[in-house]
Amino acid sequence: MRPLTEREIRAAFVNCTKGEAKRLSVPRDLGERPWEDLDFFGWRDPQAPDRAYLVADVDGRPVAVALRGTGAGSWQTRRSMCSLCLTTHTGGVSLMVAARAGRAGQQGNSVGAYICSDLACPLYVRGKKDAGVGARLPESLTLEQKIERTVANLRAFVAKVTA
Ligand SMILES: [Zn+2]
Repeated sequence: MRPLTEREIRAAFVNCTKGEAKRLSVPRDLGERPWEDLDFFGWRDPQAPDRAYLVADVDGRPVAVALRGTGAGSWQTRRSMCSLCLTTHTGGVSLMVAARAGRAGQQGNSVGAYICSDLACPLYVRGKKDAGVGARLPESLTLEQKIERTVANLRAFVAKVTA
């Protein structure tokens, strides 16, 4: 995806108030992120460990989603699979919950998905980050196809939030 500025990211949030979007913590090192390898940009809030955020490119427009997630605690010894990139981690997948955008969210409706706790899905798919032995199932798909699948899963998740 194309590199985004802090201002663009804050303006792209669809499921929190303008005040929250203004205050939440956006990484300061945006200029050093590997944007060309990112299908979406995700990060955890260093000040609030249960909060995470992701920004996706939807038809050329950034769409940002605020998430609440369980931490990747040591209690989680079960192997679980990320629903976006299909990487399996032991203790590295969190249930992330997003309030739905607009009135549905105000009424308490939310959407949940199991997602890599560090939101580094695009890097796992590309083999740029290692999730350990057995984390990626051997598949006959090409890298392009795996990326397309991850993007499709991400879009489906974002579409449920914005529906
Ligand atoms: Zn993932």
